[in-house]
Amino acid sequence: MNIANEKTLASYIKQLGESASVDVYPELAKFAKSESPLLRRLAASAVGKLSGIVDSSASIELLRPLLFDLHPQVRQYSAKALGAFGVKAAPALDDLRDMYRNPEEKDYVKRSVIASGKIIKNAVEMAEKGKKHKCGRCSVSISPDEYARSQKAFERSFCDNCFDEVYLKRRNFDTKVELNKTIQAKDGTIVQSDGELKIAGWLTTNNIRYRYDERFRIIEGTAIRPDFYLPEFDIYIEYWGMDTADYKIGMLKKQKLYQQQGKKIISLYPKDKNNLNTTLRNKLSKYIQI
Ligand SMILES: [Zn+2]
Repeated sequence: MNIANEKTLASYIKQLGESASVDVYPELAKFAKSESPLLRRLAASAVGKLSGIVDSSASIELLRPLLFDLHPQVRQYSAKALGAFGVKAAPALDDLRDMYRNPEEKDYVKRSVIASGKIIKNAVEMAEKGKKHKCGRCSVSISPDEYARSQKAFERSFCDNCFDEVYLKRRNFDTKVELNKTIQAKDGTIVQSDGELKIAGWLTTNNIRYRYDERFRIIEGTAIRPDFYLPEFDIYIEYWGMDTADYKIGMLKKQKLYQQQGKKIISLYPKDKNNLNTTLRNKLSKYIQI
C-alpha cells in the first residue's frame, strides 16, 4: 500500500467512525484486517465510536483478535474500543487481564487496558449485582450502558440526557472557539454557526417566522434543544453541526423521539449548507405548500 493511498483510506475510516451509521460496519470489518497497522488501528477506534449503533457481538468478535495484534497501537485502540461496549465486552476481560500481566506489554497499552477493564467490570457489577452508579450531573441512577458510554468518552458517569447536554455544550463551545464570535443573522438573531446563519437567512428571505433559542425543552424526560421552531407551521428545524459519533447517537435518539411525539422535524446537516435553498424547500414541502 503506498503512503498516499494509506492516508486517503485513513481519513476515510475516520469518517466512517463518525458516520453514526450501521451500514459502515462491513467496511470497517474489512479494514480491521488490512495489512496496514494504521488502518487496523483506526478501524478498531471507529468501531468503538459506533458502540450503541453497530451490533455489539459482531464488534466484540472483531475487536478481540486485534488485542493480539503485532502492533502495540492496534492492541491499544482495540482495548479502548472494547470499553465502550460495557457489559457485552465482558468475554474480553480475560484477554485484557493477560495483557495487563504480560511483562512485555507497553505501558501505554496497559493504561488503556486498565481503563477499559475497569469500565467493563463496573458495568458488569451494575448489571449483575445491581450496584448503582449515579449521573455525576443530575444524580439519577444510570444503566450499565450509560455508564460504559460516558466513562469511555468522558471518564465521567452521565445519564444519556446529561451526556447529550454535555456534548451540546461542547459543540457550542467548539463552534464559538472556531468562529471566535457569535454571528448576527439578518433579522438580528444571534446564532451559533455558519450553518444556522444560512438557515436563519433563508427563513427571513422567504418570510417564514421562526424562533431560535438555545434553551432545552424536555420532551418525555429527554432534553431537546430545537434550533429553529416555526410557530406558524409547528415545525422544528434542527441543524446537526457536530460530527462526532457519540453526539449522533444522541441525535438518532432525538430524531426518533420527535417522530414518536408526532412532531414535524426537519434535519439539516453541514453538507446541506451549499444547496440550502433546494434542500430546505424540498424538506419543508413535505409539510407545507411552499
Ligand atoms: Zn444526568
